[in-house]
Amino acid sequence: MHRIYSIIIFSRAQKTSKRRVKYILKKKLKFYTKEILKFFNITIIAFGFIVAIIFIKYKPVYAVSISGEEVGYIQNEQEFNKLVEENIINYDSKNVDQVELEANPEYELKLVNKSEETNESTVLIALQKELKITYKYYDILLDGEKIDSVDTKEDAEQIVNSMKEENEELNFEIAEQTTDDIFEVETNTLEVAKENIANKLVEKKEIEEKEKGIADVNGIKIANLPVTGTITSRYASVSRLRVSTHTGLDIAAAKGTPIKVVSDGVVTFAGWSGSYGYIVKVDHGNNVETWYAHTSKMLVSKGQEVTAGEKIALVGSTGNSTGPHLHFEIRIDGETVNPQNYIYK
Ligand SMILES: [Zn+2]
Repeated sequence: MHRIYSIIIFSRAQKTSKRRVKYILKKKLKFYTKEILKFFNITIIAFGFIVAIIFIKYKPVYAVSISGEEVGYIQNEQEFNKLVEENIINYDSKNVDQVELEANPEYELKLVNKSEETNESTVLIALQKELKITYKYYDILLDGEKIDSVDTKEDAEQIVNSMKEENEELNFEIAEQTTDDIFEVETNTLEVAKENIANKLVEKKEIEEKEKGIADVNGIKIANLPVTGTITSRYASVSRLRVSTHTGLDIAAAKGTPIKVVSDGVVTFAGWSGSYGYIVKVDHGNNVETWYAHTSKMLVSKGQEVTAGEKIALVGSTGNSTGPHLHFEIRIDGETVNPQNYIYK
């Protein structure tokens, strides 16, 4: 009986102590929770203050670095990328072929003093320095030799086509050139290049004609030589046989060799003329006349139109002559000139 009682007492006591513990725990928990909440409140408020102070004093920006070196701040990465796209990647200027950004910019979010200004344009300029630009232009070649350069293929083609309209035998080529040195780009506008090339063609023609021994006399094209033979007396040479200096070019050839008129014209004289013997004079216009003297036979008469290369007389030795030869004269405004300045180069 006693035992049972004691057990009851014990269990009661135990119950009571458990309750106590629970009670104390509850109380403590309440206390700690309150403390923790209090602490948090203070922290949040403090943090809020700090953030507020930060945002009053500072602002977030992106610091941009190129190859590890900070070049400036930008406000908005997306908007800046748009600027880069417009000003750098799609950089479209005369002769620009390719644009490559050699350095990759790095962006880092940073807090800076509010008074600090972002400098997008400075960053953009720094980026532009890292650009590798390739330029493109077009050379126009004539017989493999560069004669001019233009900016576009269209310009080059237009020039070549217009030149070929006049002479389709011209051997033009268009060569695309690229360089990363802007100073190598020496192009001309369409109009200037056209003029240059036209001048070059005239120059080339003159050289070719001179090489052939044929040239232009006061605007009159000399198409051929009057005879082929040996030069026996040059212009302005002095001889015992003549009173004055020599007014023409003597070309020795066998008697009867055909004499060909050097350019288109009209016969102004065909007959005997003292020391010249039988002479043919041809007027070519532009005050240019050619004379063919000492002939054995004249094949044309005064007033007759002749075309370049036409046989007008035969070589002889009439007049003041020591043997069969052609005395050939060129006169501009009635004055003799050295035929060798125009033919027989
Ligand atoms: Zn002579």
